[in-house]
Amino acid sequence: MAENEKLECLKKLQEVLQEKFALEQQVESLPKELRKEEAVLRNVEKELEDLQQTASQTADEVKSLSIRYEDAFQTRTGYEKQMEFLNTQREYEALSKQLEEARANEETLLKQRNSRTKESEKLKKDLEEKEAAVAEQRAKVEEERAKVDSKLSGINEKIAALDQSCLEIKGSMISDELYDKFSNIVRKKGGVGVVPVHGQVCMGCDMVLPVQFVIDLRMKQEHNEIDYCPYCSRIIWYEELDPETEKSYIFEQLESKGTGSESKASAASAESQQDTDSYDESMGMDGGFEDF
Ligand SMILES: [Zn+2]
Repeated sequence: MAENEKLECLKKLQEVLQEKFALEQQVESLPKELRKEEAVLRNVEKELEDLQQTASQTADEVKSLSIRYEDAFQTRTGYEKQMEFLNTQREYEALSKQLEEARANEETLLKQRNSRTKESEKLKKDLEEKEAAVAEQRAKVEEERAKVDSKLSGINEKIAALDQSCLEIKGSMISDELYDKFSNIVRKKGGVGVVPVHGQVCMGCDMVLPVQFVIDLRMKQEHNEIDYCPYCSRIIWYEELDPETEKSYIFEQLESKGTGSESKASAASAESQQDTDSYDESMGMDGGFEDF
């Protein structure tokens, strides 16, 4: 069989494309760690913001309570002074009651002020710790970002080099259209876009191809043409096997006979049901490709 140069070209392209797509996947997953650290940073920044707000509110409350306590203190001492200048029992009783209330008020405010002051001091300490945590996390994000940037530029250089190799391999043998289609197939079919046919079976999807289809495929192959598997859309090529091995891949399509062949065929169709691969009418048998 004359060598199909187009096919050989596609096989070489596939190797380079596999490498390229693996690198592209790395590019996508690389910033994952960075995104995680950035999310952590956003959380601690939010916590810091909330804490700053609470701390400032508490400080205001301390200030206001201090003023009110100071007033209450003045009121109480004022009443105490007035006590010295009372004339009647009635005046004494009235002032005593006011003094008692003033004392209670002063005591309550003192307690509130002290408790708020304690809280405020604790918040100041928490704030310092949170500010340190934010600074630490910012540094972590910066470090991770620098790491990602340098790795990315390295990978992107490699990808550009692989693109260049693809262009060189493709030359004028593969049209731009076929190259784009093929790239898409390789990408969507897990890195395998060109597969052999053994006997009647596509090695990409294990589906059994019609006898005439395989005969046509072999003809095309002789004439430097290519064809696609009607089930999995991969580019296929007929691979000659030794006759004994080949027998296990031959099935008569129209009349189901043979026991061994039946089990293989049903296993193949069972697999095709799990797979998303299915016959695509729009593709036809002549490679009129709509999907890729
Ligand atoms: Zn297939």
